[in-house]
Amino acid sequence: MLRLNTAVAGMARRADGKPGWTLALANKDGATTNEDFDFVAVCTGQFNEPRELHCRGEGSFLDQGGQILHSSKYGDPKLAKGRRVVVLGGSKSATDIAVNAVKSGAREVTIVMREPVWRIPYFIGGLVNFKRILYIRAQEEMFPGWGIGAMSRLAYRLTAPLVWANWRGLESLLKAQLKLGKCKMVPKERIEDGVNCSVPIATPGFYPMVADGRIKAVFGTFDHYEGDSIVMSGGERIGADVAVLAIGYKLGVPFLPEAYQQKLVDADGQYRLYRLIANPDLPDLGFVGFNSSFCTVLCADLAANWLVRYADGQLKNQPTQREMRDNIEMMLHFKRVERPAAGVYGGLCVAPYHYRHFDELMADIGTKTQKRGGLAGHFQPPDADAYAKFLASAPEYRAAV
Ligand SMILES: Cc1cc2nc3c(=O)[nH]c(=O)nc-3n(C[C@H](O)[C@H](O)[C@H](O)COP(=O)(O)OP(=O)(O)OC[C@H]3O[C@@H](n4cnc5c(N)ncnc54)[C@H](O)[C@@H]3O)c2cc1C
Repeated sequence: MLRLNTAVAGMARRADGKPGWTLALANKDGATTNEDFDFVAVCTGQFNEPRELHCRGEGSFLDQGGQILHSSKYGDPKLAKGRRVVVLGGSKSATDIAVNAVKSGAREVTIVMREPVWRIPYFIGGLVNFKRILYIRAQEEMFPGWGIGAMSRLAYRLTAPLVWANWRGLESLLKAQLKLGKCKMVPKERIEDGVNCSVPIATPGFYPMVADGRIKAVFGTFDHYEGDSIVMSGGERIGADVAVLAIGYKLGVPFLPEAYQQKLVDADGQYRLYRLIANPDLPDLGFVGFNSSFCTVLCADLAANWLVRYADGQLKNQPTQREMRDNIEMMLHFKRVERPAAGVYGGLCVAPYHYRHFDELMADIGTKTQKRGGLAGHFQPPDADAYAKFLASAPEYRAAV
């Protein structure tokens, strides 16, 4: 049953003591009704509530005709035509908008970002689709994963020089292909230390436009607005008609009661989710699509297949509460200590461990096949059709009644 024009305004454990939750459902007029449900799957996404940034002088910048908008509101290229556009942010939305503003006839385009980051072109070396290099098992296996034993750690140590050479080779290729030196955009961080969901694709045209001055790059952030200018944290003053804030989205589940928020998210923002889907201390509740990545739709689909079985106690490897808690602690240690880059987006980013995550979900579900075999299987990016076949080999699932 679809309930359109309805927002979940709040939720609470059922007052009648039965399993499940009472949801406060708000219609488009704001009127709220309460309704009981046995199980709740939260699929509210991580990219739908824009982050905000307010700086001193904003009011007078707006009063004198300036415009400030979040990147998600930049839908009409006419916004940029003949105007001075300043884009704040260093990820894919920011570079997409800067390039679009140039193409749409902006008078001046400036991009303001904290520091240069590695960006991956659609075709590495101009030839090979990036998915065939970065999303394959062979590449993923170069990153030590979680919960590995002493033998695996030794193997990683022995092969470290080869892996190191692989990354330096990729960095050299990217520097040459994207002309990062000429653009003064060579990142300080080693590429392998930062591979996660926040490594953006290089918007075609971005670096050439920086190199020839059509896009001016400034490192830092907005400090304040003054008249029709924006003053940067480094003191530079940039004239602006439009400020586009490409600063991302708020992560969170605002309708969950505070006591349960604390069970879900630690003080440092890390999510406590087993397999990035369920928490043993949040009963009758699961999260789909929180396991974000470069192929979030496939992640969400597999999480949904996992969650229905978990909810009905029909996973082949149905975890106990103790196993879930221990696993969550192990994963949090991995993200906080062993691979801090895995802690971005509240630790919910699957990249670069797509296959490791999918293998765990398939094993839990009990599919007979979990991976494409042979050498070829190590060099193919995740493929939704292959996972549909693996799922078809799982024990038949029927919803409990
Ligand atoms: C600019 C941009 C580019 C992206 N590119 C990619 C990409 O190339 N590949 C990729 O895999 N992913 C990409 N993503 C991530 C993308 O968000 C996901 O792939 C996908 O949209 C996630 O789907 P979802 O259904 O989980 O969440 P969403 O698409 O965010 O949907 C969430 C839904 O929940 C609803 N909702 C939220 N709160 C409530 C509430 N309280 N009550 C009722 N309804 C509520 C929202 O209205 C919305 O309909 C991109 C995201 C952005 C912003």
